[in-house]
Amino acid sequence: MIPSAGLRAALATATGDRIVYDLAGIGERYATLVEELPGVSVRFAMKACPVDHVLSHLAGQGAGFDAASPNEIAQALRTGVPPGRIHYGNTVKSDRGIAEAYRLGIRDFATDSLEDVAAIAAHAPGARVFCRLATSGEGALWGLSRKFGCSAADAVPVLEAARAAGLTPAGLSVHVGSQQMTTEAWQDAFELLAEVLVTLGRRGIRLDHVNLGGGLPALGYHDRHGTPLGPPLDKMFAVIREGTDRLRELAGGALDFVIEPGRHLVADHGAIRAHVYRLSSRRRPDGEPQHWLYLSCGKFNGLYEMDEVQYRLVFPTHPDAEYVPAVVAGPTCDSDDAYAPAPVLVPRAVQSGDPVWILSSGAYATSYLTQGFNGFDPLPCTVLP
Ligand SMILES: *Cc1c(COP(=O)(O)O)cnc(C)c1O
Repeated sequence: MIPSAGLRAALATATGDRIVYDLAGIGERYATLVEELPGVSVRFAMKACPVDHVLSHLAGQGAGFDAASPNEIAQALRTGVPPGRIHYGNTVKSDRGIAEAYRLGIRDFATDSLEDVAAIAAHAPGARVFCRLATSGEGALWGLSRKFGCSAADAVPVLEAARAAGLTPAGLSVHVGSQQMTTEAWQDAFELLAEVLVTLGRRGIRLDHVNLGGGLPALGYHDRHGTPLGPPLDKMFAVIREGTDRLRELAGGALDFVIEPGRHLVADHGAIRAHVYRLSSRRRPDGEPQHWLYLSCGKFNGLYEMDEVQYRLVFPTHPDAEYVPAVVAGPTCDSDDAYAPAPVLVPRAVQSGDPVWILSSGAYATSYLTQGFNGFDPLPCTVLP
């Protein structure tokens, strides 16, 4: 992934650390997605980039939002989208949160348990619920398989309980795991959805939509050898198109689809300008020499995902360098504040203060900024038109 000229220019002229988003790039990614998946509504998962300008831009292009709390719902509404294009996609909700969302006009709620259904019935009477099915999460960098979703067998009593409580059993949802790298995971998700749709049909429950969740990949991440991960995006789109056709057939035609990308829309169109603290060398207790590259930016100020993702680093003041493998780490006194996967190649000559660009770091960066862990300020944010 080559960053756009605008993004490069903004990184090059920044005099201090910051995160830069390229709205045009995000908009193009959105437009491509809509083109690739006709008939599927896009609801951006806000937590991947809760930046007002980004949200408004996506809303202007027709996106809705997957929100996870009353505050996210309020932020989504401030973009001007009607409440019907926002759903409360978090299966974890308090009574107060449900009531507040309902007051704000939200009528679509995710659920995965009888307890949550009872709470929705009490605090959002008549609402529409969609039941999240658990997936294995295999093939994804982050599986998300433990905390969310019920089994296929449990989805039936959950939606039956919703119907009995005066709610509308409206849909099913899945999430194949974040940065899903395989098409098989999508195939498995469609198998699961088909199975549950058929079972529900036998019980007289007809749903009006299926929510395909997030999981579409960023394209600019690298593996530990510096090779692009290269997720098979086109094949994924083909599997999703086939899967939606098949489910529509099963449902007799009247089935809408929603997809909730987060990372895919924003990761590659955001980048961080940070700077080098120091490249240092020391021996490990076993005597092995090791280089460490300490950066101004790490796990607690923008790179929370650095222990799974190998970002591409650019050292603009060292174009043709002699490289050494170094473990990259952030500036705090926390030993988790480091790249776990493997050393990356770093110019041997880097000096304290040299700029470094961290590419494809736009997803889950601003939402994971701490308020001054060890006194390191949250990154300021610039949004390019
Ligand atoms: C976080 C989240 C998403 C977005 O996931 P990505 O992997 O970033 O696309 C979508 N849906 C739900 C319910 C989420 O919690």
